[in-house]
Amino acid sequence: MRLSRYFLPVLKENPSEAQIVSHRLMLRAGMIKQASAGIYSWLPLGFKVLRKIENIVHEEQQRAGHIPMLMPTLQSADLWRESGRYDDYGEEMLRIKDRHGRDMLYGPTNEELITDIFRSHVGSYKDLPLTLYHIQWKFRDEIRPRFGVMRGREFFMKDGYNFDLTKEDALHAYNRHLVSYLRTYERMGLQAIPMRADGGPIGGDYTHEFLVLAETGESEVFYDSAVTDLTFGDREIDYDSVDQCAAVLEEFTSKYARTDETHDEALFAEVPKDRQRTARGIEVGQIFYFGTKYSEAMGAKVQGPDGKTVPVHMGSHGIGVSRLLGAIIEASHDDKGIIWPEGVTPFHAGIVNLKQGDEEADAACDALYASLKALGLDPLYDDRNERAGGKFATMDLLGLPWRITVGPRGLKNGVVELTSRRTGESEEMPPEAAVQKIAQIYAGIA
Ligand code: ATP
Ligand code: MG
Repeated sequence: MRLSRYFLPVLKENPSEAQIVSHRLMLRAGMIKQASAGIYSWLPLGFKVLRKIENIVHEEQQRAGHIPMLMPTLQSADLWRESGRYDDYGEEMLRIKDRHGRDMLYGPTNEELITDIFRSHVGSYKDLPLTLYHIQWKFRDEIRPRFGVMRGREFFMKDGYNFDLTKEDALHAYNRHLVSYLRTYERMGLQAIPMRADGGPIGGDYTHEFLVLAETGESEVFYDSAVTDLTFGDREIDYDSVDQCAAVLEEFTSKYARTDETHDEALFAEVPKDRQRTARGIEVGQIFYFGTKYSEAMGAKVQGPDGKTVPVHMGSHGIGVSRLLGAIIEASHDDKGIIWPEGVTPFHAGIVNLKQGDEEADAACDALYASLKALGLDPLYDDRNERAGGKFATMDLLGLPWRITVGPRGLKNGVVELTSRRTGESEEMPPEAAVQKIAQIYAGIA
């Protein structure tokens, strides 16, 4: 993309309404615009990152064998009356009447709809196990929407639902989700620590929240610092293997890591003193096994191998797709702006032309742009008639991981400058070498 032809409404001033850095930077970098409280338009740059995150979630869900679909945002109240949640959900649910006076609602989540789909079409254990998911807009009328996309009213969420014959099978689905979530967050350059969470009214031990450590996080967390040494990396895993998935769960959840809701002082005291940590975290996902709660209430049953009809065991598993943009920025920025991890960056590299209008510099930039494109990369070329300082400031604000700077002086010696946004280090090299280096970096990114 040539910046002169793009739509990138960068703000010069710090917006006064933004209390935290990710919100401020998303507004300044022209990624989002508030439409009304807790509801945002996704401007082109923000939309690009949102799509990248969504794609990673899709890829990792499907790698784990989960099946994508799409359910609507508007739902009929009747299903929620069946489960009993229409009255329980309270003020967070946006309730709407259609022209015939029928009660509708904007879905805050989808357990009821998916259970209805399941019971209409599945009747035998032979169709199990089954995990369906979608990525769809949700609405929760949060009392205090804040921090930009972190706590919106309208937000984009992946929610998946597993259906299994037995509790044992459903716990394998739970473990499988934990593994796939670890991979998902790592691909986004994030460390999200699974922490034992509160099962709420359903109770039980089977729920973990994934938390990204950040000062601005809304949750208070307590953990053994040894959990921060764990990484999933690029290990191969067979998602059908009960033992492999269980071993990963064991590895990532046996050390103390809890949110304030489940924090246990006595257990925490057993962690060696020098490894006890109290911090804040951003919840970017949650997994849940809830047994037969919905399947019993809504009659989602299958015939088992013994001919008996039994309610299915279910779980639900969410990832806050739009919240992740905020979480990534909270975890990765500096005074000058965002620092995108390579896995989610809106453009792979920026090209800065120090002397727009100079024949040689323009030609070199055009050639770089074309070579990167030819390799399937997506560069952003700042071809505006601006001073170098302004171009650098914009690139730093946008946070592309790599910048190629092109100027007449370097070109005389046959070189351009390649700069890492993260380290600030620059290296001079011929333009072709810069292209090769960038291609290599991204080739390693799934
Ligand atoms: P929270 O405790 O932050 O209100 P939750 O536990 O109610 O979230 P879930 O029902 O577990 O949320 O939803 C799954 C994921 O969706 C959460 O882990 C979070 O990342 C994201 N999410 C929930 N509410 C919002 C919101 N208002 N704005 C943006 N993302 C949200
Ligand atoms: Mg949650």
